Amino acid sequence: MYESAKKIYPREIGGRFDKLSKLATIALLGLFYFLPWLLWDERQAILFDLPARKFYLLGLTLWPQDFPYLALLLIIAALSLFFFTALAGRLWCGFACPQTVWTEAFIWMEQLTEGTRSQRMKLDKAPWSLAKFRKKASKQFLWITFSMWTGFTFIGYFTPVRELGADILALNIGGWTLFWGLFYGFATYGNAGYMREQVCKYMCPYARFQSAMFDKDTLIISYDEKRGEPRGGRKRSVDHKAAGLGDCIDCQLCVQVCPTGIDIREGLQYECIACAACIDACDSIMDKMNYPRGLVRYTTEHSLQSKTTHVVRPRMLVYATLLLILVGGLVTAMASRTPVILDVIRDRNSLYRELPDDLVENIYTLKIINQSNDARSFTLSVSGLEGLLLDGIDGEVHVDGGGVLSLPVRIRARRDDASGVNEILFGIEATDDASVVMEEDSRFIGPTP
Ligand code: SF4
Ligand code: SF4
Repeated sequence: MYESAKKIYPREIGGRFDKLSKLATIALLGLFYFLPWLLWDERQAILFDLPARKFYLLGLTLWPQDFPYLALLLIIAALSLFFFTALAGRLWCGFACPQTVWTEAFIWMEQLTEGTRSQRMKLDKAPWSLAKFRKKASKQFLWITFSMWTGFTFIGYFTPVRELGADILALNIGGWTLFWGLFYGFATYGNAGYMREQVCKYMCPYARFQSAMFDKDTLIISYDEKRGEPRGGRKRSVDHKAAGLGDCIDCQLCVQVCPTGIDIREGLQYECIACAACIDACDSIMDKMNYPRGLVRYTTEHSLQSKTTHVVRPRMLVYATLLLILVGGLVTAMASRTPVILDVIRDRNSLYRELPDDLVENIYTLKIINQSNDARSFTLSVSGLEGLLLDGIDGEVHVDGGGVLSLPVRIRARRDDASGVNEILFGIEATDDASVVMEEDSRFIGPTP
């Protein structure tokens, strides 16, 4: 029913792709830990303020009304993943996925405290001793500290990080904040410290469906069977071609460096996260043997079959066109977004009020949301009926940056002009920018004629 997973001890290997992977890890983790501390106009640059229902993204403030933009952004991200997977295979898995990036960092701490692959294997087999305890405890200390910092940073995207730090130091932290910080820290510790390749193999849905985006022109990491087989050990001085051997010396180095423990020589497997460690490993062997590099390499199935690889193909065109349309739509929508929202709520308690001098009055509450980060003044107007009078407003109204103003207003009209139900239009205009205008319709009710 269940076979417990065998622990994998990936061997460390240098090379072109190892450098690239380390660079990606440093850049992505650096961004994750640094971004919450970045300030923009004296406010946290990236903050998903859920209680206030506002998302701050650099200079932009998104409100619940802007949810369609976020939805569009997520669709674009998903479609980009499809596009790049069809083009270049599992680039995301190998170099940018959080699981890969954090696992890389945890393995680095493991190597720092427990040594190389063979030292780690020996240590795990050895009975408990003071030296073993010291190494294991050092590793746990690094892992737990790093995980807790990760949990703290994660919460820092949802709660102002400086205040959060001060609250933690003062031991004044809310229950939910503590829960989510510990939860995220624990998930990092478990996933990157222990689960590792099992997350990719058994938990990640992308690993399961990404093959649907592959075709014979997709870039994959593959072993060149024609060149490598028949595999076998030999001395460097031996003319292996004359001896009937291929270029693979069956050293197993490509298997030992694989973080998911597979043998690339058995063909394309869904467990392969395309980290390219086996390319570095095999290239180093090819260099030692004085054979050309590339026995394991980035290639395509068509190329392996000595056929032409097509970069431009129907599915790429479909993905690219959809991406262009969506990105164009998002940019246009964002550029034409008015940074103010006007909501008009008619008083439900009374239909209308009759006043002396043949006047009729309706009451409304105007809700003005200033979505920009700067305070603004607005002039109000109302139209749609002859002689409409806006009462209760004295000139301009002032709304703080990112603020919401609730404003009760009374509208009057002459009884003869306002009988029955009438459509009227409220308008606001920023005093500092005539293009910042918003209109909202409502109804003015007068006595039945
Ligand atoms: S087979 Fe190669 S590219 Fe795939 S996961 Fe293993 S080492 Fe990485
Ligand atoms: S590293 Fe290269 S030579 Fe060694 S077993 Fe793997 S494919 Fe063969």
